[in-house]
Amino acid sequence: MQGKSPIATKWVLVLLFALAACVGSGPSDRQPSRSDQTPVTAGRLPSNSPQTRQCISQLRRMGASFEPLPDRWFGGGCTALSSVKLLDIGTPLAHMTAITCPMATNLIAWSRDVAQPAARRYFGANIRQIETMGSYSCRPVNGQAGNGLSEHGRANAIDIGGFTLADGRRVTVLNGWNGKDDRVRQFLRDIHKGACRNFQIVLGPDANHWHADHLHFDMGKGPYCR
Ligand SMILES: [Zn+2]
Repeated sequence: MQGKSPIATKWVLVLLFALAACVGSGPSDRQPSRSDQTPVTAGRLPSNSPQTRQCISQLRRMGASFEPLPDRWFGGGCTALSSVKLLDIGTPLAHMTAITCPMATNLIAWSRDVAQPAARRYFGANIRQIETMGSYSCRPVNGQAGNGLSEHGRANAIDIGGFTLADGRRVTVLNGWNGKDDRVRQFLRDIHKGACRNFQIVLGPDANHWHADHLHFDMGKGPYCR
């Protein structure tokens, strides 16, 4: 009778480890390895930090309806730390994913103090819905392979594609930024410029062609406003 050779046993173990690695990959609550321990900046604070607890209180005081999300570590350095699921900030937001608490408070401030007043000023109507193109998304800067991790990969950014007004009109960055309607052009430039007071990085169609159809706001290292 022939038993398993040591080599066969070794390969069985290798296979088991490989399977365990497959099961462990993908979105999960995996803890970070030592090499993931990067300096603490916005978007990298865990939910139990004093700054995050203070931010969550502020979010409540602002009257937002939201669900705090557990800290999550995804593959490729992507994380969603001290993030929330925004349910209601007064103006409905379409296509939202996880967003860090500091991004959420600044988004609310921008929506209330910049975007809504500008819509009333230029169009005589409130914004009924802000059409986002998402917040958390694990991808490199500008979606280009080889670039560093985008702040979207830390739930620390949001893309805004356009707006639906209370009277049903629709304003989009793609059609409006260089479009024929002066009011729309001015409105978009005003809310872009105004966002530079709320966020660290603000990018629009004048930044590069990757932003032809949206405004990008993040709380990474700034300030940069283009
Ligand atoms: Zn973006």
